[in-house]
Amino acid sequence: MPRVLMLKDEDPRSRVETIDDDQLPHRAVSVDIDYSDLNYKDALAVSGRAKIVREYPFVPGIDLAGHVRESGDERYRPGDKVIVTGWGVGERHWGGFAESMNVDAEWLVPCPERMTTKNAMLLGTAGLTAMLCVMRLEEAGLAQHSAILVTGATGGVGSWAVQMLSRLGHEVHAVTGKPDQGQWLKELGAYDVHDRTELEGEPRPLEKGRWAGAVDTVGGQVLANVLARMDYNGRVAAVGLAGGTELATTVMPFILRGVSLLGTDSVMIPFEQRSRAWQRLAELPEELFSTMQYEEIGMDLIAERAEALLNGDIHGRLLIDPH
Ligand code: NDP
Repeated sequence: MPRVLMLKDEDPRSRVETIDDDQLPHRAVSVDIDYSDLNYKDALAVSGRAKIVREYPFVPGIDLAGHVRESGDERYRPGDKVIVTGWGVGERHWGGFAESMNVDAEWLVPCPERMTTKNAMLLGTAGLTAMLCVMRLEEAGLAQHSAILVTGATGGVGSWAVQMLSRLGHEVHAVTGKPDQGQWLKELGAYDVHDRTELEGEPRPLEKGRWAGAVDTVGGQVLANVLARMDYNGRVAAVGLAGGTELATTVMPFILRGVSLLGTDSVMIPFEQRSRAWQRLAELPEELFSTMQYEEIGMDLIAERAEALLNGDIHGRLLIDPH
């Protein structure tokens, strides 16, 4: 009989309650959840501030990691360490804010041997997405020791991207709207920190080319400025919309500088690429996790911390221990 965080309707007063096993969705694999984490999308779902959840009652949580308890699928056995992110879990399908959950085998990724379920959720969708951006840039031919721009650098995806790219030996230029976080970004590995206002004006079709690669979590005018400032053959992994969904640019960066705009998605990405990304994430040094800033909470605090996250009052990751 698992305890779950249950949303009854759009009323943000979610309740932690105990339900019968047979109230869980009927899906092939039962997972005992060790950890989940709280993302921006989860905070919107829990608070009811945006239409993330389609049907109630609903258990939110877009990420989960734990161990298989029972499996009706030959790919997984009891005791296997597994991760779920994406596939509409926590949006269309009951998710990770629970002691256990039944999921489709297709949604699972084996948790790499050398990675703990805790570290998997300190990464979560944000860390996976940052690694997918790194892989997109590499597959597009990014050279070693390149100058790379990361926008929205203090965010979940941005801060992981800064750490990963700098550990890989690149010169990371972090762009942030929070100048007081410059020192922290340098501690994460940023070579230099730029104020977001530098990239918020109306760009000319081409500006001075400065960067070989970019990870853009912001979109809108910032992405238009990034494109105009890419060096010859520059590659831009476009992954987010924190600053807007529109993109007003010209063809000039593409046809005169051979710039590539590389769309990056973590939700529907196929199993092969997903598991390759998790294998790469397992190679990150343990020191990144042992020194990182995070708060570990139980399910009863999720609603409160979700409000704080939406109000911009959370710095670092929120890890959820459902037990
Ligand atoms: P966070 O909320 O953790 O971080 C977003 C960052 O963007 C903020 O910390 C801030 O960084 C910057 N930012 C916020 N508001 C604005 C604004 N109005 N204009 C410009 N910059 C702003 O989000 P995540 O890192 O988790 O996600 C980043 C983006 O990526 C989101 O849009 C999210 O939806 C998307 N995403 C996409 C995925 C995919 O599969 N494609 C998966 C995961 C996330 P700073 O102050 O340092 O500039």
